[in-house]
Amino acid sequence: MTETECIFCKIVAGEIPSAKIYEDEDVVAFLDINPTTRGHTLVVPKRHVATFLEADDETIEKLIKVSRDVGKAIVKAMNADGLNIGINNGKAAGQIIFHLHFHLIPRYANDGLKCWPQGKYEEGEIEKVKEEILKVMQEK
Ligand code: 5GP
Ligand code: ZN
Repeated sequence: MTETECIFCKIVAGEIPSAKIYEDEDVVAFLDINPTTRGHTLVVPKRHVATFLEADDETIEKLIKVSRDVGKAIVKAMNADGLNIGINNGKAAGQIIFHLHFHLIPRYANDGLKCWPQGKYEEGEIEKVKEEILKVMQEK
């Protein structure tokens, strides 16, 4: 997807309406049109980058800081009991819009939502997984 076709670039530019709750020179936060819970917010960099894994340090630092500040505000305003912050990276991980965004999802004690199921490692498998990851990390 090119930047001219990107729906979030259009929201950033004000070409598509959105319920913006925060804006500075680098970052915008607006309400998700299909909320998981009331107050579900998306925090996006103004500059187009497709995924978290491709973003530069400065972009990540700014998004994290704004997510904390906006997160505090929406928890208070929505009278929430907690907050999930999530980033989908790639189609297989559920990413639909390929312009980096952090989901801020207010949570309520009785909202009934389950995040994701968890399994168990076979005997010795956790060590193998650890080695596979360390091998890649040590290539740097
Ligand atoms: P993803 O699955 O890519 O992590 O999430 C994309 C999110 O963007 C979805 O939660 C979806 O509801 C939201 N979304 C898609 N189109 C629009 C839009 O035009 N406006 C707003 N505010 N949210 C959108
Ligand atoms: Zn974009």
